[in-house]
Amino acid sequence: MKKIAVLGSTGSIGTQTLEVVRAYPQQLCVAALAAGGNISLLESQIREFHPAVAAVWDEEKAAELRIRTADQNVRIVSGMDGLIEIATLPEAEILVTAIVGMIGILPTIEAIRAGKDIALANKETLVTAGHIIMPLAKEKGVKILPVDSEHSAIFQSLNGENPGQIDKLLLTASGGPFRGKDRAFLENVQLEDALKHPNWEMGHKITIDSATMVNKGLEVMEAKWLFGVDIDRIQVVIQPQSIIHSMVQYVDGAVIAQLGTPDMKLPIQYALFYPDRRFLAGERLDFWQLSEITFEKPDMENFLGLPLAFAAARAGGSMPTVFNAANERAVSKFLNRKIGFLDIYRIIQECMDAHRVIENPTVEEILACEQATYEMIESRW
Ligand code: NDP
Repeated sequence: MKKIAVLGSTGSIGTQTLEVVRAYPQQLCVAALAAGGNISLLESQIREFHPAVAAVWDEEKAAELRIRTADQNVRIVSGMDGLIEIATLPEAEILVTAIVGMIGILPTIEAIRAGKDIALANKETLVTAGHIIMPLAKEKGVKILPVDSEHSAIFQSLNGENPGQIDKLLLTASGGPFRGKDRAFLENVQLEDALKHPNWEMGHKITIDSATMVNKGLEVMEAKWLFGVDIDRIQVVIQPQSIIHSMVQYVDGAVIAQLGTPDMKLPIQYALFYPDRRFLAGERLDFWQLSEITFEKPDMENFLGLPLAFAAARAGGSMPTVFNAANERAVSKFLNRKIGFLDIYRIIQECMDAHRVIENPTVEEILACEQATYEMIESRW
């Protein structure tokens, strides 16, 4: 029986992780859960999965949950200390980091220090602190198992191969709901349109990031750290049907890919059971019915998420933190209808232009850069 802890259990990845646990009650059980503010869902998860500890970010909500779950054998904790307690719980073997945002950095670091394997969905962790996380994971002998579908596809395509013989990582992207649109169109898009991803059901923040292509930019940075490949050897390829989840090209020209129908439970399950594969109910690819798999070059002129991300990655140090924090705050303003779609790029560009890079930032410096970026945005937008 593998005991898991989940940060962000009430979100899109978190709930799908619990679906996997539900499908394998003899193999997986839940030791701890953490959520932001959705205590109704967390309460029903506690009643179904019986974790020993559960965390809620806000202490007031934690107090309410304590009353609601008084009949359960669960301890309710709160704040960053609560997240760290969930991340480091002695009985848990693996931590699923399905929390959104840079708040995931500290608990992930503490979990690695405590020797937990990490099923990593929270991409902000590697984007901003990859230079701390990857060496620490190596030192502690813990596995960082990707949950992001593209990185899981690369991870699967690397099975049994020599990573030293990678020529290129080919990261696929659907292109989002606005693929093929021009700048004039993008200037006027509405929130509702941006939230309609053509192939994947995801949380709001990542859905907007897919529409701007910022998500792919974050994934490029995540891939660089996960697989130790230079940024210039990561190529983004638009594959609108989301059938090929990503590929690896080797030095002899061979390209190995992972294909499948879009279902996040596959990479989640692969990370939880690695290196085993388990049955997953659902649709299968039918190559007799599949009419086409097409490829395109990304539009770097209109969708600035990708070129800005490459610029942030090349600048290195604290710049990816600024890219990520500026995007996080800009997306939140867009979700609250305070700014337009293209303002997201303008905010990121402005924050990056104003930033002086710190080489090899510490966690404290990363969090300070995040804060300074938020303050700059609040003072200007
Ligand atoms: P959601 O917005 O659906 O869920 C976010 C989760 O984080 C919720 O459980 C939320 O709790 C929790 N959370 C937010 N703030 C806090 C906090 N301060 N303390 C504790 N918990 C908190 O996001 P997704 O599931 O879509 O994404 C999660 C991460 O996984 C992101 O980094 C994303 O980039 C990545 N990812 C997502 C994919 C997807 O298909 N969705 C694919 C690949 C990567 P609550 O709702 O209770 O406030």
